[in-house]
Amino acid sequence: MRKKIVAGNWKMNTTVPEGLELAKAVAAKSAETPANVGLIVATPFTHLAAVAEVLKGSKVELAAQNCADHASGAYTGEVSAAMLKSVGCKWTILGHSERRQYYGETDAKLVEKTKLALAEGLDVILCVGENLDEREAGRHFDVVTEQTENVLLQFSAEDMKHIVIAYEPVWAIGTGKTASSDQAEEIHACIRGILAKHFGAQVAEDTTILYGGSCKPSNAKELFAQKDIDGGLIGGASLKADDFIAIAQSY
Ligand code: PEP
Repeated sequence: MRKKIVAGNWKMNTTVPEGLELAKAVAAKSAETPANVGLIVATPFTHLAAVAEVLKGSKVELAAQNCADHASGAYTGEVSAAMLKSVGCKWTILGHSERRQYYGETDAKLVEKTKLALAEGLDVILCVGENLDEREAGRHFDVVTEQTENVLLQFSAEDMKHIVIAYEPVWAIGTGKTASSDQAEEIHACIRGILAKHFGAQVAEDTTILYGGSCKPSNAKELFAQKDIDGGLIGGASLKADDFIAIAQSY
């Protein structure tokens, strides 16, 4: 059975002391979430080492929000996969739409980043999703298919054991507009179909596919009830421990 996951993406929010308070609250309440639901928090780089300590002994796993596309060297301001591993990350998010939109993250770069992350033993949450223009032009299936294939066809069925996909329609991120459960499910089913086509039925069945975009306690239950939705990548609502935990309790 594929794993259910609720992952919080804190983005560029909280100072380190604020982040530690949030992490402590999430860790403390994590015992109140169903045993079969994994919890992840993706904090800013500056918080990772300290949050790793706070999460010890809880079920909550640590993620970064990005990693460098080179292993090491003269890349000022970048943080490598090995560095993330060394501070206790189990995961990194890659290809978030904000990185694609504001920092020129291309699918080719995501292939490099994913290779480096996997080589260091990090698991990857790979984000895909169409923007509003693409949705309105009826191109959402094509865009998501292209983003998914451009990256994942460079990897093996074995690698897929360490990759989770997050479908995040850009028009739903931070806007309060959630994709309807039907809209989300049809894209999730499409992604699972892509996995079946390229890696076989077992990989498609075993891969966790998360929904992200204004997911909150009031809509999580309906979204998570869909056949191909295996949890959520949560932005705004992950900044309140009670809301984040309530989303995980929707299972
Ligand atoms: C996100 O940025 O990954 C996200 C899903 O944000 P929000 O929940 O705030 O829409």
